[in-house]
This record gives sequence, structure tokens and C-alpha cells, in this order.
Amino acid sequence: MTLLGGLLPAEVDELTSRMDLPRYRADQLLQAVHRECVEDVANIRQWPAQAREQLQSEGWETGLLPVIRTVVSDDGETTKSLLRLGDGTLVEAVLMQYPEEGKHPRSTVCVSTQAGCAMGCVFCATGQMGFERNLTAGEVVAQVLHFARFLRERGEHVTNVVFMGMGEPLANYAETIRAIRILTDPRAFGLGQRHITVSTVGVVRSIDRLASEGLQVGLAISLHAPNEELRQELVPTAGPTSVRDLLDAASRYFDATGRRVTFEYALIDGVNDSPELASELATLLRGRRTHVNLIPVNPTAGGYGRPARKRVLEFERILRDAGINCTVRVEKGTEIAAACGQLRTDDANQRQVNVTLVE
Ligand code: SF4
Repeated sequence: MTLLGGLLPAEVDELTSRMDLPRYRADQLLQAVHRECVEDVANIRQWPAQAREQLQSEGWETGLLPVIRTVVSDDGETTKSLLRLGDGTLVEAVLMQYPEEGKHPRSTVCVSTQAGCAMGCVFCATGQMGFERNLTAGEVVAQVLHFARFLRERGEHVTNVVFMGMGEPLANYAETIRAIRILTDPRAFGLGQRHITVSTVGVVRSIDRLASEGLQVGLAISLHAPNEELRQELVPTAGPTSVRDLLDAASRYFDATGRRVTFEYALIDGVNDSPELASELATLLRGRRTHVNLIPVNPTAGGYGRPARKRVLEFERILRDAGINCTVRVEKGTEIAAACGQLRTDDANQRQVNVTLVE
């Protein structure tokens, strides 16, 4: 199976020219795949039947993947889908909606870039699954197209994409960049670059590479600890100088792109949520143009607990008092295991929950 959604517009131009079709046929194909989100090559109604048959005989599929299951949170604002890739591998993608008064809701799709993950963060359900394989750009784009189609039926559209699902996007660098270029190309999906955020647990060399791509995408770095010792405990694959290295990489990213980097900090009860660690983090970040996103850890099989609300607010207060820009992430989709660190595709995640089945 080859997904047309994984082609850059220039490659669609090449495809149509190889098929002896005029250039406008390329735009029609891109429109059908990325704007109309058609399910089947046979349904690309703008194309002559013979050309559609040729695409089918060459094994091309549109941009979508089969949906195994979709569940919706009780408040209707979070939707999680389990999708099947061509080789049977399963991945999860999540749609989070944030109602805005008098407007369509902000609709953010959280995509997976790998099946499983090799980084092994101790509090993360995906990390506990181990690594299966990298996704192709077409498989990443397919997750966005899946929700674009879902929203289209309601007269809404995807407003943001975050690379924060299963896997470490920068460990699948080439396909991640390719997916970003397809999603942001005006001839393809056409999302603004500033509406995309890549989240990494810290692959320093790849952060520098991303900074040199000439893209305006946001960067979020998962820090989780203000010192090396604690960070290595939580992110066992982190290098021995990872905290300092990441801060420096964030500064270089800001210098190259003008985009302020967000540091994600998963707050774990009794592990990294003390006032002393908040002060240590504040000292570390003082004077740097960053934003800290505190994420009270979500329940997963790892047995790590979420701190009491009071403790979270105290951590936030210490950072704010030190002049650090800081927010606490709004919890979404916890009951359907769609929140941060909860995505996994094996049975441990498929507990019965009170949800509405869509498909
Ligand atoms: S938090 Fe991210 S990088 Fe860490 S194991 Fe989970 S998916 Fe991988």
C-alpha cells in the first residue's frame, strides 16, 4: 500500500507527468486527498476513470488508514482513534477540542510518529511497550487526514497538529520533517507552520538540525527534572549531561527560529514535585526565554501517581514568583486513556470505559 497523502506536491507533479496527465490533474489529486479526504482512489471524481484505474493498479491508496476503533470522552472534547497501518501495526491518534466562544473550537490533532517508543520514560505507557517501528510520513499525515475528515462532516477543521503521540519524532527525523512539509504546503494540507509543535524528549543533534530547516514550527522539550541524576532516573536513555545540553539546544533553537521553546515537566507524586525541585528548576531557567508546561502525570500501568492539586499549584507558584513563564496543562481525555503518556496499543490500554463509540 502506498499512500498518496505521503507525497510532496512536487512528487505528485512527477506522478501525473509520468502518467501523461496535465499539471492541473496534480492539483486535483492533492485537493481530493488533503481537502476532501476521499477514502478511495475510485472516489477521486475529478479524475478520468482510466487514470483512477491506473493509480489503483499501481497500488496507490488515498491518504487514509482503516479505523479499528474510535472512542470519545464523556465531555465530547477528546476523541481517540486506533488506526491500522498497511502491515497490521496499530497506532493511536487523538483529537483534542477546545471550545472558543462564538467560534469553531480549536481542534488539535496529536499524532504518533512511531509504533511504540525506544526512549523508555518510566511514567509513559508507550515507553513501556518498547519500540516496534518508525512510521512513514504518509502514515503520520493519515492520522491528521482521519480527523480532518471527521471534523469536515461537522463543518469544522483541524487548526493545530502536535507531534506528541506515540514515539520520539526526532528519532524518526526524515519522515517527521517530510510529514511537516506535506502538512504545511499550501498545495497539500496547507496548515500554517506556526500551528505545528514538535515535542521531543531531547535528541540534541536533531534539535539543531530542526533549527536549520527554515521552518517556523514550535518546539517542546520534555525536561521532567532540573538535574541530571533525577532526569536519568525518569528518562533512562538521556545522556549524562542532558539537562545542560537541552537548555543550550533550546537557546540555539530560539536564536535560529525566533520561536520560544516550551519545557514540558511531567509532575509525579513524591518523585519530582517538591518545592525544592521547583526552586532548582527556577534557578536553572532564570533569564532564559522559555515557557514551562506542568503536566500532572496521568495514571498508567507504571504505578506513578499524580500529585495533589495543592502541590501542583505550589510548584507553579514558585516558578511564577521567580519570573518563569508557566502554565499547568488542562487535563483532557484521561478516562479514555488518550492523555499524555497514556497511548499504547496493546491490551493494557483497552480497559472498559464510559465512552461513546463512534465507529
Ligand atoms: S514520553 Fe514520549 S519519548 Fe518518553 S517513552 Fe513516552 S512516547 Fe517515548
